[in-house]
Amino acid sequence: MISLSRRVLLALVVSTAATGFAAEPAPASAQVPELPPAALTDLWEPVPLVVSAPAVGVPSDAVVLFNGKNLDAWESVKGGPAPWKLENGVMLIAPKSGIIRTKAAFGSIQLHLEFRTPAEVKGDSQERGNSGIYFMGLYEVQILDSYNNPTYVNGQVGAVYKQHIPLVNPSRPPGEWQTYDIVFIAPRFSANGVIDVPARLTVFLNGVLVQHDVEVKGPTENRGYPAYKPHDAKLPISLQDHSNPIGFRNIWAREIKAPGEK
Ligand code: MG
Repeated sequence: MISLSRRVLLALVVSTAATGFAAEPAPASAQVPELPPAALTDLWEPVPLVVSAPAVGVPSDAVVLFNGKNLDAWESVKGGPAPWKLENGVMLIAPKSGIIRTKAAFGSIQLHLEFRTPAEVKGDSQERGNSGIYFMGLYEVQILDSYNNPTYVNGQVGAVYKQHIPLVNPSRPPGEWQTYDIVFIAPRFSANGVIDVPARLTVFLNGVLVQHDVEVKGPTENRGYPAYKPHDAKLPISLQDHSNPIGFRNIWAREIKAPGEK
């Protein structure tokens, strides 16, 4: 390989030969500095884990939370089995039966979830197709039928509830399946229990970016302003029962770890 400074010299010789005149020496500012070898910045480890990501199906390192067969990964927040229904491979909210949560606890994750608000439209604003995903049981990404359904904008689908308005509204009509792909980065607390690094959320709804790396201000509050309280590094994900029969399918989560992190 010819180094850059050699190439400059070569160009100088060639141009001199072509014109018959000695070229003006390049000013000092135009001289190309010697660059370090490329290998200096090549990293060969830690090697990222190999993950299979089939065109149809779930990445090999995902924790499957619902695949249409049973509600075994979930329980009632009141204790005991998840009181929601399983109908034709769909997990359906049994209105007023209560919130469910995963049996497993999670910190920072990538979550995939598909939901369907009722085809038969009843109610409006927050009373229409309302549910929600609570990361760590505390931080809600809103589920709502927001197809021609005005409500306060920090409470429509794609909102970090009462904290961040979605960038756009890519809602599909009631009764159609919709997809959430969400990156949740768990908050970190200092030893004295004060928030050190707030949680963050990036959210795609139906493949469209609706939240880009927003800071979560604290646990979701309907009234008043959020304030962090220290909690465990991993906690269950919960799904809200807001008395509307929302259907769910294909729910899986991947823990987010840096390469080499145990
Ligand atoms: Mg909700």
